[in-house]
Amino acid sequence: MLTVHQFPCLSDNYGFLAHDEATGETTAIDTPDAEKYLSEAQAQGWTITQIWNTHWHPDHAGGNQRIKDVTGCHIVGPKGESEKIPGIDRAVGGGDVVKLGNLEATVIDVPGHTLGHVAYHMPSQSTAFVGDALFALGCGRVFEGDPAMMWDSLSRLKALPGDTTIYCAHEYTQANARFAITIDPDNTALQAYVNEVEEKRAKGEWTVPTILRRERDANPFLRADDTGLQIAMGHAGDPVATFAEIRGRKDRF
Ligand code: ZN
Ligand code: FE
Repeated sequence: MLTVHQFPCLSDNYGFLAHDEATGETTAIDTPDAEKYLSEAQAQGWTITQIWNTHWHPDHAGGNQRIKDVTGCHIVGPKGESEKIPGIDRAVGGGDVVKLGNLEATVIDVPGHTLGHVAYHMPSQSTAFVGDALFALGCGRVFEGDPAMMWDSLSRLKALPGDTTIYCAHEYTQANARFAITIDPDNTALQAYVNEVEEKRAKGEWTVPTILRRERDANPFLRADDTGLQIAMGHAGDPVATFAEIRGRKDRF
Protein backbone atom coordinates (compact mmCIF):
# COMPACT_ATOMS: atom_id res chain seq x y z
CA MET A 1 0.00 0.00 0.00
CA LEU A 2 1.23 3.43 -0.99
CA THR A 3 0.75 6.44 1.24
CA VAL A 4 1.31 9.87 -0.31
CA HIS A 5 2.02 12.75 2.04
CA GLN A 6 1.49 16.11 0.34
CA PHE A 7 2.53 19.54 1.61
CA PRO A 8 2.99 23.04 0.17
CA CYS A 9 6.53 24.11 -0.73
CA LEU A 10 8.04 27.41 -1.92
CA SER A 11 5.36 29.78 -3.23
CA ASP A 12 3.10 27.43 -5.22
CA ASN A 13 4.78 24.02 -5.45
CA TYR A 14 3.54 20.90 -3.73
CA GLY A 15 5.95 18.47 -2.14
CA PHE A 16 5.15 14.76 -2.12
CA LEU A 17 6.60 11.95 -0.06
CA ALA A 18 5.51 8.51 -1.27
CA HIS A 19 5.81 5.79 1.36
CA ASP A 20 5.57 2.01 1.11
CA GLU A 21 4.13 0.73 4.37
CA ALA A 22 5.43 -2.83 3.91
CA THR A 23 9.12 -2.00 3.57
CA GLY A 24 9.30 1.49 5.05
CA GLU A 25 10.82 2.87 1.86
CA THR A 26 10.05 6.51 1.16
CA THR A 27 10.70 8.44 -2.02
CA ALA A 28 10.68 12.19 -2.40
CA ILE A 29 8.91 13.20 -5.59
CA ASP A 30 11.12 16.10 -6.67
CA THR A 31 12.88 18.30 -4.13
CA PRO A 32 11.72 21.94 -4.22
CA ASP A 33 12.86 22.57 -0.64
CA ALA A 34 15.26 20.18 1.13
CA GLU A 35 14.64 21.37 4.70
CA LYS A 36 10.87 21.18 4.26
CA TYR A 37 11.12 17.65 2.87
CA LEU A 38 13.40 16.53 5.70
CA SER A 39 11.14 17.97 8.39
CA GLU A 40 7.97 16.60 6.81
CA ALA A 41 9.54 13.14 6.58
CA GLN A 42 10.64 13.30 10.19
CA ALA A 43 7.16 14.35 11.31
CA GLN A 44 5.75 11.28 9.54
CA GLY A 45 8.38 9.07 11.17
CA TRP A 46 9.76 8.26 7.72
CA THR A 47 13.31 8.27 6.32
CA ILE A 48 13.80 9.37 2.72
CA THR A 49 15.48 6.45 0.91
CA GLN A 50 15.01 7.67 -2.68
CA ILE A 51 14.35 10.74 -4.79
CA TRP A 52 12.45 10.51 -8.08
CA ASN A 53 12.97 13.64 -10.17
CA THR A 54 10.60 14.62 -12.97
CA HIS A 55 12.85 17.30 -14.53
CA TRP A 56 15.85 19.50 -13.84
CA HIS A 57 14.23 22.84 -12.87
CA PRO A 58 15.51 24.10 -9.51
CA ASP A 59 12.03 24.00 -7.97
CA HIS A 60 12.10 20.23 -8.70
CA ALA A 61 15.73 19.14 -8.24
CA GLY A 62 17.21 21.99 -6.17
CA GLY A 63 17.05 20.08 -2.89
CA ASN A 64 18.61 16.86 -4.20
CA GLN A 65 22.15 17.24 -2.90
CA ARG A 66 21.18 18.40 0.57
CA ILE A 67 18.70 15.54 1.05
CA LYS A 68 21.26 13.04 -0.25
CA ASP A 69 23.95 14.43 2.08
CA VAL A 70 21.64 13.97 5.08
CA THR A 71 20.00 10.64 4.21
CA GLY A 72 22.31 8.91 1.71
CA CYS A 73 19.27 8.34 -0.50
CA HIS A 74 19.35 6.96 -4.06
CA ILE A 75 18.44 9.47 -6.77
CA VAL A 76 16.51 8.53 -9.91
CA GLY A 77 16.07 11.10 -12.66
CA PRO A 78 15.41 11.60 -16.35
CA LYS A 79 18.16 10.34 -18.66
CA GLY A 80 17.36 13.04 -21.21
CA GLU A 81 18.73 15.68 -18.84
CA SER A 82 20.76 13.61 -16.36
CA GLU A 83 23.72 16.03 -16.46
CA LYS A 84 21.44 18.67 -14.91
CA ILE A 85 20.15 16.47 -12.06
CA PRO A 86 22.31 16.97 -8.93
CA GLY A 87 23.48 13.71 -7.32
CA ILE A 88 21.76 11.40 -9.83
CA ASP A 89 22.47 7.66 -9.35
CA ARG A 90 20.20 6.16 -12.00
CA ALA A 91 19.04 7.77 -15.24
CA VAL A 92 15.68 6.51 -16.55
CA GLY A 93 13.50 6.93 -19.61
CA GLY A 94 10.20 5.74 -21.01
CA GLY A 95 9.36 2.12 -20.16
CA ASP A 96 11.89 1.79 -17.36
CA VAL A 97 10.61 0.45 -14.05
CA VAL A 98 11.50 2.02 -10.71
CA LYS A 99 10.75 0.29 -7.41
CA LEU A 100 9.62 1.64 -4.07
CA GLY A 101 9.84 -1.41 -1.85
CA ASN A 102 7.70 -3.93 -3.71
CA LEU A 103 5.69 -1.28 -5.54
CA GLU A 104 6.55 -0.51 -9.13
CA ALA A 105 6.45 2.71 -11.09
CA THR A 106 6.72 2.82 -14.86
CA VAL A 107 8.54 5.79 -16.33
CA ILE A 108 6.72 7.73 -19.05
CA ASP A 109 8.55 10.19 -21.29
CA VAL A 110 6.68 13.50 -21.28
CA PRO A 111 9.07 16.01 -22.91
CA GLY A 112 8.06 19.52 -23.88
CA HIS A 113 8.27 21.62 -20.70
CA THR A 114 11.87 20.37 -20.64
CA LEU A 115 13.40 17.94 -23.14
CA GLY A 116 13.94 15.11 -20.66
CA HIS A 117 10.82 15.47 -18.49
CA VAL A 118 9.45 12.15 -17.19
CA ALA A 119 6.40 11.05 -15.21
CA TYR A 120 6.19 8.13 -12.78
CA HIS A 121 3.10 5.94 -13.08
CA MET A 122 2.29 3.36 -10.40
CA PRO A 123 -0.40 1.22 -12.07
CA SER A 124 -1.13 -0.95 -9.01
CA GLN A 125 -1.78 2.21 -6.98
CA SER A 126 -3.70 4.12 -9.72
CA THR A 127 -1.30 6.97 -9.14
CA ALA A 128 0.92 9.12 -11.35
CA PHE A 129 3.41 11.84 -10.47
CA VAL A 130 3.54 14.16 -13.47
CA GLY A 131 5.68 17.12 -12.39
CA ASP A 132 5.11 20.12 -14.65
CA ALA A 133 3.82 18.17 -17.67
CA LEU A 134 0.12 18.17 -16.76
CA PHE A 135 -1.69 20.41 -14.28
CA ALA A 136 -5.27 20.46 -13.07
CA LEU A 137 -7.03 22.24 -15.96
CA GLY A 138 -3.65 23.14 -17.46
CA CYS A 139 -0.30 21.94 -18.66
CA GLY A 140 3.30 23.06 -18.34
CA ARG A 141 4.71 25.85 -20.44
CA VAL A 142 6.54 24.51 -23.48
CA PHE A 143 10.02 25.87 -22.68
CA GLU A 144 12.38 23.43 -24.39
CA GLY A 145 10.26 21.35 -26.76
CA ASP A 146 7.62 22.24 -29.30
CA PRO A 147 3.83 21.88 -29.46
CA ALA A 148 3.95 18.57 -31.35
CA MET A 149 6.23 17.07 -28.69
CA MET A 150 4.08 18.39 -25.84
CA TRP A 151 0.84 17.17 -27.41
CA ASP A 152 2.42 13.73 -27.85
CA SER A 153 3.43 13.73 -24.17
CA LEU A 154 -0.02 14.79 -23.00
CA SER A 155 -1.56 12.09 -25.21
CA ARG A 156 0.49 9.48 -23.35
CA LEU A 157 -0.80 10.74 -20.00
CA LYS A 158 -4.33 10.97 -21.37
CA ALA A 159 -4.15 7.26 -22.28
CA LEU A 160 -3.66 6.18 -18.63
CA PRO A 161 -6.67 4.67 -16.84
CA GLY A 162 -9.36 7.27 -16.07
CA ASP A 163 -9.28 6.58 -12.34
CA THR A 164 -5.58 7.50 -12.06
CA THR A 165 -4.87 10.03 -9.32
CA ILE A 166 -2.70 12.74 -10.85
CA TYR A 167 -0.21 14.47 -8.56
CA CYS A 168 0.91 17.65 -10.32
CA ALA A 169 3.61 19.86 -8.91
CA HIS A 170 1.92 23.26 -8.62
CA GLU A 171 -1.26 24.86 -7.30
CA TYR A 172 -2.08 26.71 -10.54
CA THR A 173 -5.65 25.50 -10.89
CA GLN A 174 -7.59 28.72 -10.27
CA ALA A 175 -5.69 30.64 -12.93
CA ASN A 176 -5.95 27.64 -15.25
CA ALA A 177 -9.71 27.44 -14.64
CA ARG A 178 -10.28 31.10 -15.45
CA PHE A 179 -8.41 30.62 -18.71
CA ALA A 180 -9.96 27.26 -19.64
CA ILE A 181 -13.50 28.61 -19.51
CA THR A 182 -12.61 31.23 -22.14
CA ILE A 183 -11.54 28.43 -24.51
CA ASP A 184 -14.38 25.98 -23.93
CA PRO A 185 -17.27 28.00 -22.40
CA ASP A 186 -20.06 25.53 -23.25
CA ASN A 187 -18.37 22.47 -21.70
CA THR A 188 -20.62 21.54 -18.76
CA ALA A 189 -17.94 19.35 -17.12
CA LEU A 190 -15.58 22.31 -17.21
CA GLN A 191 -18.22 24.71 -15.87
CA ALA A 192 -18.82 22.48 -12.85
CA TYR A 193 -15.08 22.01 -12.30
CA VAL A 194 -14.43 25.78 -12.46
CA ASN A 195 -17.13 26.47 -9.87
CA GLU A 196 -15.68 23.84 -7.56
CA VAL A 197 -12.16 25.26 -7.93
CA GLU A 198 -13.35 28.78 -7.09
CA GLU A 199 -15.12 27.48 -3.98
CA LYS A 200 -12.15 25.44 -2.84
CA ARG A 201 -9.64 28.23 -3.35
CA ALA A 202 -11.89 30.73 -1.55
CA LYS A 203 -11.60 28.41 1.45
CA GLY A 204 -7.84 27.93 0.94
CA GLU A 205 -8.27 24.27 0.04
CA TRP A 206 -5.97 22.38 -2.33
CA THR A 207 -7.09 21.36 -5.81
CA VAL A 208 -4.27 18.81 -6.21
CA PRO A 209 -4.32 15.87 -6.72
CA THR A 210 -6.81 15.56 -9.54
CA ILE A 211 -8.29 12.53 -11.32
CA LEU A 212 -7.39 11.85 -14.93
CA ARG A 213 -11.01 11.26 -16.01
CA ARG A 214 -11.98 14.77 -14.93
CA GLU A 215 -9.07 16.27 -16.82
CA ARG A 216 -9.96 14.35 -19.97
CA ASP A 217 -13.47 15.82 -19.80
CA ALA A 218 -12.57 19.39 -18.85
CA ASN A 219 -8.90 20.27 -19.41
CA PRO A 220 -8.67 22.03 -22.80
CA PHE A 221 -5.02 21.02 -23.21
CA LEU A 222 -6.09 17.35 -23.20
CA ARG A 223 -8.96 18.06 -25.60
CA ALA A 224 -7.02 19.30 -28.63
CA ASP A 225 -8.28 16.16 -30.39
CA ASP A 226 -11.93 17.22 -29.83
CA THR A 227 -13.58 18.17 -33.11
CA GLY A 228 -15.64 20.99 -31.61
CA LEU A 229 -12.64 22.54 -29.90
CA GLN A 230 -10.55 22.19 -33.08
CA ILE A 231 -13.20 24.08 -35.05
CA ALA A 232 -13.46 26.75 -32.34
CA MET A 233 -9.68 27.24 -32.49
CA GLY A 234 -9.72 27.39 -36.30
CA HIS A 235 -7.78 24.16 -36.84
CA ALA A 236 -10.27 21.44 -37.76
CA GLY A 237 -8.63 18.02 -37.95
CA ASP A 238 -5.31 19.22 -36.49
CA PRO A 239 -4.71 18.44 -32.79
CA VAL A 240 -1.16 19.83 -32.76
CA ALA A 241 -2.20 23.20 -34.22
CA THR A 242 -5.18 23.26 -31.85
CA PHE A 243 -2.93 22.52 -28.89
CA ALA A 244 -0.45 25.20 -30.04
CA GLU A 245 -3.27 27.73 -30.36
CA ILE A 246 -4.57 27.01 -26.84
CA ARG A 247 -1.05 27.05 -25.34
CA GLY A 248 -0.29 30.35 -27.10
CA ARG A 249 -3.47 31.95 -25.80
CA LYS A 250 -2.67 30.81 -22.27
CA ASP A 251 0.84 32.25 -22.50
CA ARG A 252 -0.71 35.63 -23.37
CA PHE A 253 -3.70 35.38 -20.97
ZN1 ZN B 1 9.35 23.15 -14.25
FE1 FE C 1 7.86 23.64 -11.48
